[in-house]
Amino acid sequence: MGNWMEGRTLAKQIREKVGSEVSQFLKNKNQSPGLAGILVGENKASKIYLGIKEKHSRRLNIRSEIIHLPETTEAASLKSKIQELNQREDVDGILIQLPLPSSFDTHDILTTMKPEKDVDGFHPFSLGNLLMDEEGFRPCTPLGIMELLKYYNIPIEGQKVVVIGRSLIVGKPLASLITNDNGTVTLCHSRTKELSRVAAEADILVAAIGRGAYVTPEFVKEGAVVVDVGQNSISDKEKVKEYFGDNEKRERDLEKKGYTLIGDVHPQVIHKARYLTPVPGGVGPLTVAMLMKNTLESFKKRRGL
Ligand code: NAP
Repeated sequence: MGNWMEGRTLAKQIREKVGSEVSQFLKNKNQSPGLAGILVGENKASKIYLGIKEKHSRRLNIRSEIIHLPETTEAASLKSKIQELNQREDVDGILIQLPLPSSFDTHDILTTMKPEKDVDGFHPFSLGNLLMDEEGFRPCTPLGIMELLKYYNIPIEGQKVVVIGRSLIVGKPLASLITNDNGTVTLCHSRTKELSRVAAEADILVAAIGRGAYVTPEFVKEGAVVVDVGQNSISDKEKVKEYFGDNEKRERDLEKKGYTLIGDVHPQVIHKARYLTPVPGGVGPLTVAMLMKNTLESFKKRRGL
């Protein structure tokens, strides 16, 4: 049986470090970082994510505001809102919650933002810097994964790393971060042939697919490190029992919330892997912690601190 690679513990340490630095700035200079989030439409998951980000910002004394616009908002007025935030001295980070409703051109909207405030790391300028291995903001989920691997002393250099999922939010930037750290990456997607065979060659396997329990033990080499990025909700009682057995916490989840979260990796993989990240409590908390860290970095940089 492998070990759980807890992101929660590391995320708490990162948040505490950010919080104590922010407190110092508040005490000595009466200044603190500001983060503005933009949400367009009513995407339920986006609302939850943004709410979590706001809650953590407030706890760390990062000034936080959410601008919630209706789905019918014109691109021009969304862009003028972003331009307003670009100009505001008290806003250090702008976060445009993705996905935007399909009527928007995401590239056009993202490029309206000043790259120096792009704490989510999705602006093409930030992604270009990542490809070029130059300084700049990195997307928070892949950055959190790299921090987690470092925390558990898992080397990247020379390792075979297979990433399943090629989204701009997770898979593609993660593949670049790993390449920059001298890992050998295979980036897989829905058209990859013989996926389980390719995956089973990995020393480090990352699943960012969005399909509950898709990565079964046959995808995993004995003793591999497995990072599960997926967050899928399941509400079928029988399925929950099949995946988790008799598990009080999961049953409580079902009763209280009507669903429980499962990753892209089948829970049985813990018996084959050396390390596996839990869902929840693995990659998720790190994403938020890295956003807080990026916001503090932006605050310091913009003031030459
Ligand atoms: P996404 O944009 O939907 O991308 C999914 C990727 O998986 C695509 O590249 C797709 O391939 C690939 N894929 C889908 N089905 C596949 C299959 N059967 N075999 C191989 N590849 C397959 O998803 P995302 O935004 O990256 O998110 C992925 C998961 O991570 C979701 O569960 C999401 O909730 C979670 N997530 C978690 C965090 C966190 O903080 N923990 C952050 C972001 C996302 P194609 O490109 O060929 O379509």
